[in-house]
Amino acid sequence: MSVIRVDSSEKAGFDKAIEELREYFSGISKSKGRPATYNLLTYGCQLNESDSEKLAGMLQSMGLQKIEGSGELAPADVVVMNTCSVRENADKHLFGNLGVFKSFCSKGETSIIAVCGCMMKVPENVEKIKRSYPYVNLVFDPQQLHRFPLLLRDAVSMHKRSVSICGEDYIAEDSYFPIERERKFRALVPIMYGCNNFCTYCIVPYARGRERSRDLSEIVEELNRLADQGYKEVMLLGQNVNSYKGANGERFPAVLEAAAKIKGFNRIRFMSSHPKDISTEIVDMVAENPNIETHLHLPLQSGSDRILKLMNRPYNREDYLKTAHYFREKVPNGAISTDIIVGFPGETEEDFLGTLEVVKECAFDSAFTFQYSKRPGTKAASMEDQIPHDVVTDRFGRLLDLQNDLAYKSNLAKVGKTEEILIEGQSSTAPDILTGRTMSNHLVNFTIPDALKDPGKTSDDYEGMLCDVKFTNARPYSVDGEMVRLK
Ligand code: SAM
Ligand code: SF4
Repeated sequence: MSVIRVDSSEKAGFDKAIEELREYFSGISKSKGRPATYNLLTYGCQLNESDSEKLAGMLQSMGLQKIEGSGELAPADVVVMNTCSVRENADKHLFGNLGVFKSFCSKGETSIIAVCGCMMKVPENVEKIKRSYPYVNLVFDPQQLHRFPLLLRDAVSMHKRSVSICGEDYIAEDSYFPIERERKFRALVPIMYGCNNFCTYCIVPYARGRERSRDLSEIVEELNRLADQGYKEVMLLGQNVNSYKGANGERFPAVLEAAAKIKGFNRIRFMSSHPKDISTEIVDMVAENPNIETHLHLPLQSGSDRILKLMNRPYNREDYLKTAHYFREKVPNGAISTDIIVGFPGETEEDFLGTLEVVKECAFDSAFTFQYSKRPGTKAASMEDQIPHDVVTDRFGRLLDLQNDLAYKSNLAKVGKTEEILIEGQSSTAPDILTGRTMSNHLVNFTIPDALKDPGKTSDDYEGMLCDVKFTNARPYSVDGEMVRLK
């Protein structure tokens, strides 16, 4: 399938649709005697979060104000649900939530509901919305993010439901969109979209289309702009970020190198890296550039070569271990995290023990662990030898026990050290505790001693600042500490 690059010739129509919607929502604001509002609910991975920053930018350009508590089940004039089809039970979640929004529509508190994201690429979900959720006004898939204002304008002006699912793989540069970034210190920068790998369990290639990469010059321009605006952290994103292929044959190290050269970024993060495209060059760059995060997210999925083959993952356990050892040797204070699936069809106890062995040998600092679940339309969904639920939960529990122990040890190894933290804000559990991350992506909760406290600052004022923290205590998923210097 060919990739269609959205160029500036379409921008006039995009801007016009936003302008028309501005007028429309201004009318609603006048009639309600308050600003028209939106609620944006985002599920799933950082690529969805990045899409939502663009949706938020477009909604605000239309004159809508974000409600207090956006992302929760609360009424607003316009509700947008950006769905994910990777997480388990995503469909139950979506349809349950749509039920709640129905009551807001009946009370006149919500007038427009739009549903987008990966779940809209699954025909059963779209059919179900068409059949049973008449109050949903607009449905579109992730490939058409750049058409959101046009689709919304048409749905509003024609007073009828619009369902737009396309078969094309579009790519629009970030400069096409107004972007409302969620965090004032961190910029999410997708550099490639889609996936060609068709791992047999995964819905992403169907939901997100074929692999396509942004232009390197556009990425570098955006990064320079972000550095000028004062962003300290940039997160380069892609389903497989290291599979980046620029129009002139540039590969991922060229993007990483360009980002590392830009003055102002304190942290350059990148994820996820596919093991098939990881190179010693990338690891060497992590080791040599002080502003590239000392953290590698490298999804293993399984430690059994037989299962990796069934999963259509084109690497083996030895390749993976070689990369992990190389990283540990070159980046001694760094961290490796991973994704693991337990209970893939045909997984034997021996295969599973192979996974536990690799987990132990890599001593992952953290891991996202998943119980295999069927995704309709994928090859694995129709494989024989699906693993019984009780076996999956037993294996999953054993993997979690091991991984929790490793994560705790990784945190324990920090105790007594002092490292630089990028402050993310106030901890969700205690108002006098701040939270942030080390260069290796370890989560840290810390206090400010009285001598360093600035009575004129609230916790929010610290967001995006850098400080040194001495680590005092380890927990299973985080480290405690005390600030020793604010930078
Ligand atoms: N592209 C990345 C890679 O290949 O390493 C992973 C992206 S995927 C969106 C995120 C994770 O979801 C995968 O690494 C996998 O562990 C998990 N996942 C995907 N499909 C799954 C399924 N059917 N059952 C359980 N976990 C799944
Ligand atoms: Fe899914 Fe595999 Fe593509 Fe990752 S590489 S997004 S797991 S198909």
